[in-house]
Amino acid sequence: MRSDFDEELEGRLVRYAAIDTQSDAASPDQPSTAIQLDLSRLLVEELEQMGAQDVVLTDYGVVLATVPGTAPGPVMGWCAHVDTAPQYNATGVKPVVHRRYNGGDISFADAPDLKLNPEVSPHLAGKEGEDIITASGLTLLGGDDKAGVAIAMTAARHLLENPDIPHGPIRLAFTPDEEIGRGVDPRLPADLGADFAYTFDGGKPGEIEYETFSADGAKVTVTGVSAHPGFARGKMVNALHLASKIVMTLPHVTMTPETTEGTEGFLHVVEMQGGSSEAVITLILRDFERAGLEAKGALLRQVCDAVAATEPRARITCEITPQYRNMRYWLEKDMTPVDLVRAAVADVGLTPVSVPIRGGTDGSRLTEMGVPCPNVFTGMQEIHGPLEWISVQDMALATRVAIALARRAVT
Ligand SMILES: [Zn+2]
Repeated sequence: MRSDFDEELEGRLVRYAAIDTQSDAASPDQPSTAIQLDLSRLLVEELEQMGAQDVVLTDYGVVLATVPGTAPGPVMGWCAHVDTAPQYNATGVKPVVHRRYNGGDISFADAPDLKLNPEVSPHLAGKEGEDIITASGLTLLGGDDKAGVAIAMTAARHLLENPDIPHGPIRLAFTPDEEIGRGVDPRLPADLGADFAYTFDGGKPGEIEYETFSADGAKVTVTGVSAHPGFARGKMVNALHLASKIVMTLPHVTMTPETTEGTEGFLHVVEMQGGSSEAVITLILRDFERAGLEAKGALLRQVCDAVAATEPRARITCEITPQYRNMRYWLEKDMTPVDLVRAAVADVGLTPVSVPIRGGTDGSRLTEMGVPCPNVFTGMQEIHGPLEWISVQDMALATRVAIALARRAVT
């Protein structure tokens, strides 16, 4: 059952996953946590050892390297992120390899009550005989996106050792802070220097993603009138009452994350902070279409204005800032990068499947900044939690897709 790239992929993922690289949205630093660089530095070392060229760790925390072309062709980028999600414990990850999965329950040494099986994770059905990697029960695994890192590294090593394979120049980029939406520094597109690129950051074998949400953030600030509570009659305007009114007037049973799916967008109240004199509501707005996103912004403003009209002494401001845009808007003008990867997926015997992602990727920003960048599967499953798992054989499929892509781009 174990073939071609299995051993290398398993070794890489186990080695990378054990390094804590959790990012932190609250940190103003770049990268947000210095520990991410522990993995970045290891990658620099490994890339130099395998003979990659132009290996650098930029001052904004991205590892860049080149696999020189063996044939004339466009410059292709392969990207993956080194950080792990802040939503779940990612410190002290102990990767466990379950060799030749038997189809039943996978248990966790550090969490005896935890069980992983095809019932809780349907993609496990049919994985009998494959090698499954999990954490030990107390942490996430971090296959998101160290699987992507392992796949790009393995494919790069393979191309460097087999110069008879025709391919154009390949640029590698391992970014920090993807999980907190800060993975793409404005300098990255120029430094990457790729005509188009792929993130290896997706799920099931065969999946190719080139449609993401379009996303805005919103900040509503309610300024009331402060007064001593004992002498406040007719004077005090309580910001918390008005902020609550705004939240209660926004849609509850439609247009929220918990009531939408598929291609429906939402307005999500993320946080409410403050006191009686000032309160701040933080929201995110999501939709696949620009018009839908604008409509959600307009609805939010309308609700703010309506509540403001009930209390002229208060001040309510609503600030909406763009976050990222659906990459389809750019890709549909030139589908070459998508068509190439669909063909590469078929080359390894899989059926390409594309579903819109209810989120964004580093590729959304890169695409918007001029580097078309669809997202390719890695095999990762149940990410951001203790049940996270990945099949070594699924990673091997993604590695073969990367190599097929490299070949395809020059033919
Ligand atoms: Zn990811």
